Amino acid sequence: MQQFAMHVDGKDRLSSSGDWFETEDPFRGEPWAKIARGTADDVDAAVTAAHHAFTRGDWGSLTPTARGRVLSRVADGIAANVDLLAELEVRDNGKLLAEMRGQVAYLPEWLRYYGGLADKVEGTVIPLDKPGYFTFTRREPLGVVAIITPWNSPLMLLMWKLAPALATGCTVVIKPSEFTSASTIQLVKVMEEAGLPPGVVNVVTGFGAEVGSPLIDHPLVRKVGFTGSDRTGRHIGAQAARQLKRSTLELGGKSPNIVFDDADLDAAVNGVVSGIFAATGQSCIAGSRLLVQSSVHDEVVRRIVDMSRTARMGDPMDPGTQVGPVTTRPQYQKVLDYIDVAIEEGATVAVGGRPADRPECGNGWFVEPTIFTGVDNSMRIAQEEVFGPVLAVIPFEDEQEAIRIANDSRFGLGAGVWTSDISRAFRMSEQIQAGTVWVNVYRAVSFMAPFGGVKDSGIGRENGISAIDEYLETKTVWINTGAPTADPFVMR
Ligand code: NAD
Repeated sequence: MQQFAMHVDGKDRLSSSGDWFETEDPFRGEPWAKIARGTADDVDAAVTAAHHAFTRGDWGSLTPTARGRVLSRVADGIAANVDLLAELEVRDNGKLLAEMRGQVAYLPEWLRYYGGLADKVEGTVIPLDKPGYFTFTRREPLGVVAIITPWNSPLMLLMWKLAPALATGCTVVIKPSEFTSASTIQLVKVMEEAGLPPGVVNVVTGFGAEVGSPLIDHPLVRKVGFTGSDRTGRHIGAQAARQLKRSTLELGGKSPNIVFDDADLDAAVNGVVSGIFAATGQSCIAGSRLLVQSSVHDEVVRRIVDMSRTARMGDPMDPGTQVGPVTTRPQYQKVLDYIDVAIEEGATVAVGGRPADRPECGNGWFVEPTIFTGVDNSMRIAQEEVFGPVLAVIPFEDEQEAIRIANDSRFGLGAGVWTSDISRAFRMSEQIQAGTVWVNVYRAVSFMAPFGGVKDSGIGRENGISAIDEYLETKTVWINTGAPTADPFVMR
């Protein structure tokens, strides 16, 4: 069985306890590699290495322009290793090779974009109200940043944090999900081979309580960037806040995909199906609630059911596969439990509703693409995040009702609107409570477009120019150029 050590200060590191844990292949339903089980001592070693790198000549003292050039070389290194990284992720996560190749090939763009921004981070001169001072701001990197990632898109969600953090000059300790650690370790090795100095990015593998928690608490860690469930996010945000550390929290969703009867139904049906079944529904922005206007309800349901029946399931390494396994054993059970909950609540199974019993799925953790009709928005299947290939269909009569149902959720991550009425598109995009609204498209993301949630979907934004601010502190400098001497006992 393969073994993956941690990666600290440019070197492999075994756990201080000597322990390992197994990671499983979701397609075969069996362990395929051992991962070092990190401890608080390992966290301390990684944070210490990151802290040294923060001030060292080969990173901390680089000019921003030179840092940007390093990131550009690192981007090229990742681009040259797309297959290696993609295949590793498919093995560990069950993501489709076709999807992973595209996703890994896109990662360098984050490093190029933020690398290009590195030397455009400017302070300002303050046009002060008091005479005799020259007052200006400096934008300084925070220091050591902790990045804690989930299992569903380990490399992409990591890169959203890593690229802006590195561009500012911060250094990083990553704790990947215990379910999908291998690709993160390999990514950091690829980055170092391409010229990233050792210690700038470190990886400590293991579990939330044993690695994540001491990492947040470490006194040299200045910020926590987290993507994961809202339950863990609340916990991590509170833990960071208790020590007055910043956190960015990208959490879950129950995003509505809203289809009006004036929409191009071919496009809408395609968008609805890919919105929920791509990545086997294991996406924070999965369009897991279909809100469909009553006048086209039956037609849209018939068409999405027909399309879902054609889904090719099986080996995620096979380029022809469209729906892969659920990534983790507990998640597989959770998805099946939610199907039972929906049935008990009175929803109707229009298609799927069971584990996939197909020879091409072997012993893997496969669930048939599942569509529930007759769903009321108050049901658990409409309110709680399933994080699997399960769609809840809810009819509505008019725009106002669509908005009411869409916003009747504790989440607010994404929303899709399918309509040919441009005025309605603007009205909907104004009134829907979400971090992103897509009109006649679903799930598009870019390094340039800010991404994040409102309500229980999180705090902060990733991607786009302003995401760099999440890793910077503002320092104000006052220089006395001849200010009148004041009475020393009176504050002015
Ligand atoms: P999770 O919250 O269970 O785990 C996320 C990470 O937190 C893991 O690395 C885990 O080990 C760590 N962790 C757990 N407990 C911890 C603790 N006490 N202290 C420190 N770290 C701890 O989430 P998951 O199951 O891996 O991922 C799925 C969730 O992520 C879904 O809810 C999904 O919606 C969300 N997600 C959100 C986005 C987004 O950008 N908004 C993107 C993808 C996934």
